[in-house]
Amino acid sequence: MHAHPLRFRERADLDGEARTNLLDLDREGLQRFFREQGEKPFRAEQILRWLYHQGECDFSRMTNLARPLREHLAQTAEVRMPALVEVQDSADGTRKWVFGLDGGNRIEAVFIPEADRNTLCISTQVGCALDCSFCATARSGFNRNLTTAEIIGQLWLANRSLLTDHPKGERGITNVVLMGMGEPLLNMKAVVPALNLMLDDLGFGLSKRHVTVSTSGVVPKMDRLREAVDCSLAVSLHAPNNALRDELVPLNRAHPIEDLMAACQRWVEHTRRRHIMFEYVMLAGVNDQPHHARELAAWVGGLPCKVNLIPFNPFPGAGYERSSDEAIDRFRQILMDRGIITITRRTRGEDIDAACGQLAGEVEDRSKRWRRFAEPRFGERA
Ligand code: SAH
Repeated sequence: MHAHPLRFRERADLDGEARTNLLDLDREGLQRFFREQGEKPFRAEQILRWLYHQGECDFSRMTNLARPLREHLAQTAEVRMPALVEVQDSADGTRKWVFGLDGGNRIEAVFIPEADRNTLCISTQVGCALDCSFCATARSGFNRNLTTAEIIGQLWLANRSLLTDHPKGERGITNVVLMGMGEPLLNMKAVVPALNLMLDDLGFGLSKRHVTVSTSGVVPKMDRLREAVDCSLAVSLHAPNNALRDELVPLNRAHPIEDLMAACQRWVEHTRRRHIMFEYVMLAGVNDQPHHARELAAWVGGLPCKVNLIPFNPFPGAGYERSSDEAIDRFRQILMDRGIITITRRTRGEDIDAACGQLAGEVEDRSKRWRRFAEPRFGERA
């Protein structure tokens, strides 16, 4: 008698494993899913509307689907979000959501309200493997890529909570930046369908100018991204020469600045001169001197672009300091004098560790161990 419910639970868990999480699928993926179920592909459009326009995740309430289909979906599919474990509000209106995943892993998303837009900054990996010297995420190591459901789920939950908190006349999320934890272009498989869902009219319907992928410069994937999705691009440059960039962004040793700039050139040519946003963190005495600004101008001057200066956000043990306001203004003026649109990013959400580069989450690090195994044994050639 007692064994029965337990056996039943085990079975249910097993069934659960085989279920397709519909949040993992963009329109094309959903059409394929329904075709495989012997259903008409237009079911994909109905499901998209329920999930993203109505915010309805319960199959039994999707009233324009025939009852047998609803019951069938309940057996074969599910809508599973990352678990919301914490919400923190900053004095300046910034809000941070912490999501719990498998094991002890936690990722973060940040909501930044402004007069004319509501921006959400989302994560694409649990931790990051790129090891940029000034970034808190790097210190926590790397565990794994996020799934499409975990990426789009951050947006779904943030958007819902905004709309329910302010039901009257308030907008939901209008802009998304992939600038949270992780390197989006090292997780193309999950990131591309998530971007499709953000841009799809039946998904979030965001404008391509309001969905921005930020990369540390994974050059070959920049071309692939452009071919796959029509969105905006930000490039984390941070240094105007290879010697310094090798130190700050170790990925530069694989893809040096001249290759990165050539990829940016291809991007603007193929997207009909859409602006690229260059991000440049301002580190006191490291990359903030007038000669750095002149060197930077020489690289980016010929491109349709904006330069975004980010005052360094400190974290314990960072080993860097933020440039003074005077140094930032001087740097900005040198770029402006050369006709380069330059803005200084206002720091937001510092009091809740939600500012750029402060997202650390909780990462069950696997990279450090991996690195140890990958190191050549004593006496072996590297
Ligand atoms: N890996 C991608 C996506 C993360 S974006 C990329 O690097 O573009 C996060 C942005 O915040 C990047 O521009 C990053 O360089 C910047 N950043 C990281 N640490 C920072 C810090 N401590 N202070 C200010 N900006 C930081």
